[in-house]
Amino acid sequence: MKCGKDEQFKQGQLTRYGNIELSPSAGVLNYGQGLFEGTKAYRREDGGLFLFRPQQNAIRMQIGAERMCMPSPSIEQFVDAVKQIALANKRWIPPSGKGSLYIRPLLMGSGSILGLAPASEYTFLVYASPVGNYYKEGTASLNLYVEDEYHRTMRGGAGGVKSITNYAPVLKAMCKAKDRGFSDVLYLDSENKRNVEEVSCSNVFILKGNVLSTPVTNGNILEGITRKSIMDIACDFSYKVEERCIPIEELIDADEVFCTGTAVGVAPVGSISYKGKRTEYKMSTELACLKLYSRLVEIQKGTIEDKRGWIVQVD
Ligand code: PMP
Repeated sequence: MKCGKDEQFKQGQLTRYGNIELSPSAGVLNYGQGLFEGTKAYRREDGGLFLFRPQQNAIRMQIGAERMCMPSPSIEQFVDAVKQIALANKRWIPPSGKGSLYIRPLLMGSGSILGLAPASEYTFLVYASPVGNYYKEGTASLNLYVEDEYHRTMRGGAGGVKSITNYAPVLKAMCKAKDRGFSDVLYLDSENKRNVEEVSCSNVFILKGNVLSTPVTNGNILEGITRKSIMDIACDFSYKVEERCIPIEELIDADEVFCTGTAVGVAPVGSISYKGKRTEYKMSTELACLKLYSRLVEIQKGTIEDKRGWIVQVD
């Protein structure tokens, strides 16, 4: 789907996956004027195809587009495009529970622009790929390296939206952590180097007693759709749910630490390493985060009632 700066997006078309043509002076290539989203399509036991809260991805893209001076597709256009891609790729989705189809909507300044300014033309496209577990650890626990040298974003930046420019800067810290045998990086805030923000592609929670806490987003942290869903589910289980600043020291003392995201699902953290000290968490099948995740999966599989209307049936 394409549109000029002041137009609505036009009807798009379904094409076979392949290279796209871009001007060397496209806004996205030169100034990083681009956003992406990530959602998944699943197949139920009866073969039915469904999406999880795609409207939330559409809204997040609209908020991001406003931040990055781009027009954005309407919620209907976004969801319709995602549905079409899911349907066209249905045969790639393994039977229920064995994987899913990751769907990647992209919005970019495709128009040519030499001096720094918003592009004159925009492209919205969606592609998909079948996926299994995000981490090689599978559903086992993650070992996180707490980074205080590099930061994901800073106050006033674009950390609260899914700008493509947020991701290349994490590669250095991520590669460093992976080379040392860690699963991923946990970032701290850039001002105090003390408050927990998020992991490269997921949000973070801590559980202490009956209180489930997650960092307040503050425009620096991406408002994860899985994060919000887990917060709602936790309320159903009578946990007290808080969004607040969480100093790194609190993680050392937590009963559980876990990460949430579309690609990651809900992943328990087995250890964190901070300033050379490693804290290990007790792992068991009784972890609260696994209980919360099971409930989320039950809603997705349709084995319990979807009382909040999170599921969008595709066929
Ligand atoms: N934080 C970042 C930086 C991410 O890239 C993601 C993945 N979209 C998340 C958190 C989790 O968001 P969601 O639950 O919507 O996938």
